[in-house]
Amino acid sequence: MKFPPIRFLFTAAFCVTTASQAPASDSADMIPVEFKQLSESVWMHTSYKHYEKFGPVPANGLIVAEGTQSILIDSGWTDAQTDAILDWARDDLKQPVTRAYFTHAHLDKMGGVGAVKSRDIETYALELSNELALANGLQPAENDIHLSVGQDVLSVGLVDLFFPGGAHSHDNLVAYVAKDSLLYGGCMVRSAASKRLGNTQDADVLHWDTAIGLVKQRFPQVDIVVPGHGAPAGPELLERTQVLVKRHVD
Ligand SMILES: [Zn+2]
Repeated sequence: MKFPPIRFLFTAAFCVTTASQAPASDSADMIPVEFKQLSESVWMHTSYKHYEKFGPVPANGLIVAEGTQSILIDSGWTDAQTDAILDWARDDLKQPVTRAYFTHAHLDKMGGVGAVKSRDIETYALELSNELALANGLQPAENDIHLSVGQDVLSVGLVDLFFPGGAHSHDNLVAYVAKDSLLYGGCMVRSAASKRLGNTQDADVLHWDTAIGLVKQRFPQVDIVVPGHGAPAGPELLERTQVLVKRHVD
């Protein structure tokens, strides 16, 4: 079945948003994890962390379902949120997570690695991410991925992992699901609502534009782009991010 382009996606009947059973609270950290189906095989999980300066900050990751199992791309901010994501895949989707991949060593992507590891799910991240995780006070994944900049793609089931080099961070990976023409850009891709590049503390702003160029070259067929924070949209998010990068560098 061919899914409609993204502009129709969010009004279509199959696009379901559900929430986990976590208790409601005023605290952003207690906002239930949200799940939204983006394509035939891909669900987005969104969890929140409260920052004094910004209020509740959402962060996205994916669940890519295939057969009786699914692959997790990125955890929630916390172990509790990640437990809710893993429970949901097992109990609601009925396709439990068997492998998890993390796209860089920041709290919004690897804050729940511990919850994943405690369930004996295989965990993977770039060797550099695992080193940085330790330096950043995060749990590393159990297994190292080795990818050279702009070269190989690591194919895991429906997911192709690609390392375009430094952008939002020096270790950011992207994930592509060819059958659904869906690109998960993670934090190296900004949402349409973003006016700036976000947290550039660990960024490689001088390579960011090139990194997006490499992603476009490697995955020319893209209908849906999922940013690390905010709403998914179409491939225009890649160009939009390049504009923000140029503005930042100038
Ligand atoms: Zn980050």
